Amino acid sequence: MKKPDDMKLIVKGKRLDGRKLDEIRPVKIEAGVLGRAIGSAYVEVGGTKVIAGVHGPRGVYPKYLEKQGRAILRVKYSMAPFSVNDRKRPGPDRRSVELSKMIKHALEPVIFFDEFPQLSIDLFVEVIQADAGTRAASIVAASVALADAGIPMRALVSSCAAGKIEGKIVLDLDGPEDNYGQADLPVAVIDGTEEISLLQLDGELNEKELKEAVQLAVSGCRVIHDKQKEALRRRYQ
Ligand code: ADP
Repeated sequence: MKKPDDMKLIVKGKRLDGRKLDEIRPVKIEAGVLGRAIGSAYVEVGGTKVIAGVHGPRGVYPKYLEKQGRAILRVKYSMAPFSVNDRKRPGPDRRSVELSKMIKHALEPVIFFDEFPQLSIDLFVEVIQADAGTRAASIVAASVALADAGIPMRALVSSCAAGKIEGKIVLDLDGPEDNYGQADLPVAVIDGTEEISLLQLDGELNEKELKEAVQLAVSGCRVIHDKQKEALRRRYQ
């Protein structure tokens, strides 16, 4: 989207919402928010709000999707019609199919699928308010919801984006920054490791900027990892 000529996203080293360039938006995470899902979580990152719920492990229908000797993960990401300024048309679209796939790929490396042969773990993520970074917030919520459901995992997965606005690399773009910025780079990191399970780039970065943005996004993921663990601790204390 083209930025209006008189719009400035960075003024005196601060962003429009008052954040420093390397500052994440306020993060709130709560585990076990739904009574009927076996695991659930609510995540807020600034104005982005998502809820994740887990069903299963349960039988796989249609049967041909069943995998011998291991479980499968199915993910459905959707955005509520009231989650954005212009009402979003309800129902699946290309973007939600793509994001469901990305969330699934980001989480699969940590799940011990062979614990539940031939079953399915079904994960639903609802975006109830969107202000950029919904795939990152969805991965964060999904990971806590899977842990809350007791699904065996080797670690939590966290996610955060970095990007480029007015030539500067910044952490965790909000809506206007995402719309008018030059690049957006969502990253997911497996806790306790250097492993990246998701890395996407929308826009253009040179090699130096790419390295800087990945490092910054990884630092944001570390902040979120601590909040995920705190949320799970609070739930089971
Ligand atoms: P992400 O939410 O992971 O950053 P995108 O880059 O596709 O994914 O979307 C960026 C932002 O654009 C969303 O978080 C949301 O604020 C806005 N957006 C996405 N889809 C729509 C839509 N159909 N209508 C209005 N705004 C949208």
